[in-house]
Amino acid sequence: MYIKDGSNDDYSFGRQEESTYSWGWLGNHVESSGWNSEDLKKQVIEKLSDLGYEKTIYHTRGIHICEMCGNGMGNSVIKISYNGKFYTAPSDVVHYIKEHDYCPDDIVIEAVLNGYYLNDDDIEVDWTSGKLGEEEVERQFKSKLEKALMRGMRGLIK
Ligand SMILES: [Zn+2]
Repeated sequence: MYIKDGSNDDYSFGRQEESTYSWGWLGNHVESSGWNSEDLKKQVIEKLSDLGYEKTIYHTRGIHICEMCGNGMGNSVIKISYNGKFYTAPSDVVHYIKEHDYCPDDIVIEAVLNGYYLNDDDIEVDWTSGKLGEEEVERQFKSKLEKALMRGMRGLIK
C-alpha cells in the first residue's frame, strides 16, 4: 500500500482528515532514504520498536507484507498526536528504517520522539449500542479526535 508522505489520506479512518499527516506507507519503493545522523536514526528505531498494544490502534487480523523484501509486517497502525496533527504510519514502519534506510521528514522524527501515541480508547466510539445515529457517532468521534489532538500539544504530553 502506497500513500505519499505528508498526505492527509488517512488509511486507518478510510478517508481524508485535515489533521492527518501520513508517513511510512511506502509500497514497493523508498522515496526518501539516508540519514544525516546515525544517532538520531538509532533513537527513532528504539522508540518505534516494540510499541505493543498500548501504543498502536486498529488491531486487525491478517498481516501486511513488505513489498520490497517480502518480510511479514504488523497489522495495526501507529497514530502519534503532536502539535495539532496526527502522524499516521503502519505499525511496523521501523522495518523500513532498519532494513531499507527509510528516513521520514524532520517533523515526523520530532513527533516520533516527542508525541503522544494513541491507543484504541482514544478513538473508539460505542458503535455497538445500536442507539447512536450516524450523526451522533460522527460527533463523538470528532470529539475524541479533538481530545487526542490536545494530548499531543507540546507541554501537555505525559
Ligand atoms: Zn522490507
